[in-house]
Amino acid sequence: MNLPIKINICEVGLRDGMQNEPRIFSTEEKTSIVNRLIESGFKVIELGSFMSPKAVPQMANTDELYKAMGNFEGVELRALIANKKGVERAIASGCKKVKLNVSASKAHNLANINMTPEESVAKFEESTNLARENDIEVSGSISMPFGSPWEGEIKVEDVEAIIEAYLDLGITEISLSDASGMAVPNQVYTICKSMKGKYPQVTWWLHFHNTRGLAIANILAAMEAGIKNFDTSLAGLGGCPFVPGAAGNISTEDVVHMMDEMGIETGIDIVKTIELARELQEIVEGSTDSYILKAGRSKDLIR
Ligand code: ZN
Repeated sequence: MNLPIKINICEVGLRDGMQNEPRIFSTEEKTSIVNRLIESGFKVIELGSFMSPKAVPQMANTDELYKAMGNFEGVELRALIANKKGVERAIASGCKKVKLNVSASKAHNLANINMTPEESVAKFEESTNLARENDIEVSGSISMPFGSPWEGEIKVEDVEAIIEAYLDLGITEISLSDASGMAVPNQVYTICKSMKGKYPQVTWWLHFHNTRGLAIANILAAMEAGIKNFDTSLAGLGGCPFVPGAAGNISTEDVVHMMDEMGIETGIDIVKTIELARELQEIVEGSTDSYILKAGRSKDLIR
């Protein structure tokens, strides 16, 4: 196999995970989790989102959380935003990295906002400009490039049109997000290989939900295609926006454990990560999707 020697992980449990939880975490609780993540070696953490507090009450304290955290040297604390209002909140709270998102589903976009996904991206220009004027880095995300509940398979040309719309705005860090959990490994490999070849200037992130148990296989396929950046969530917190009760994001400890056992460096302390994930799983009182929290590490079996 052709695998990297080192990968990067972004912990998204505080955003993607918690926004799907009925329990709302306080700023103090979140601050403590972020500090422990940093102590455990995480270098990229998605702290939350600047969305309407009415729509996503779990993320209403994202501003406070940024203010409480301040800036950590060598750690990227990113936030998801939807528009210019999000950038304004990022400026006011000291956030230095924002991520925009568009759905790859043309049918979904046309029905909802009467725009194609690439037209939606072009509308991000104002937000992007404002962010840059304030030294805030901008990345872009494309959700459901591997399949959507509206049209099933998404045409590669459609995904490329969105990537090019992001590149037109000068955004060269792009995340492909399998929010619907429809991706399969050979498809992930083919798409990643082709995108990497076509757009060598792009830094890719892959974001897999474990809706159908395929996330870790998809990560392996993406690594084989040369991808080195992955989003994961402590304890597998989160959900699938389209399948009530389905598994959440791929669990951080499952991914770090696999990398450890395969000799691929993550810079993350697995023991500390498991401790934190276990506490979180107890707090949310749910059976979140994590093999390592159930079985422990392979190494723990050795007597
Ligand atoms: Zn997600």
